[in-house]
Amino acid sequence: MNNFVFEPPRVSSLPVHGSDARFPVGRVFCLGRNYQWGDVVSAEREVPAFFMKPATSVVDAVGEIAFPTQTEQFCHEIELVVAIGKDGYEVDAEDALDHVWGYAAGLDLTRRDLQVAAKAVGNPWEPAKAFDGSAPITPIRPAGRDGHGRQGAIWLRVNGVERQRADLDSQIWSVSEVISQLSHSVTLRAGDLIMTGTPPGVAALQPGDVINGGIDGIGEFEVRVGERR
Ligand code: MN
Repeated sequence: MNNFVFEPPRVSSLPVHGSDARFPVGRVFCLGRNYQWGDVVSAEREVPAFFMKPATSVVDAVGEIAFPTQTEQFCHEIELVVAIGKDGYEVDAEDALDHVWGYAAGLDLTRRDLQVAAKAVGNPWEPAKAFDGSAPITPIRPAGRDGHGRQGAIWLRVNGVERQRADLDSQIWSVSEVISQLSHSVTLRAGDLIMTGTPPGVAALQPGDVINGGIDGIGEFEVRVGERR
């Protein structure tokens, strides 16, 4: 028995690769720029901007993904997803991987036109980034079983044509550095996910497009973009 006025919201979760277990999702943190895109090359690494998606945006990267309302520029961003398995505050970078439970490949789906409009007037990005189904993610590979891959290709194709490709070792900020930075801002909790930024090549999707993406050694997926509602 409890005294909630209605049943608490359901817990979002992701499958664990090679297991019947599921990873319960708390918060979803996302980084802005974490690969060189060629348009802005600076000698100094700028601390990345973090933003969030709600746990309810997380869906399995299978089958059909919904085409969101309110956009004419629905864009893909393939990203390495870090799954946190241990709480931490002010974590040193050299200890940061102790807090990683596993890794996955995910899409930071974006209503780009809404993001551009928000940036232009200094508004928050949530309408562009935090909509329902905006984070399709593959099953999580446990680091305790499969290790911490620091390199490997990250890639995305639409209808068989490659649009994004990079290697994880070209990330501006390493996973350890990202965990350390974020943990100086908030207390990281087991269940948090961190989407670690996308390589260049982001572009718009159309209804019916088939997206293949993945990260070598971590996960691959294929999803189809649904019709406009
Ligand atoms: Mn992104």
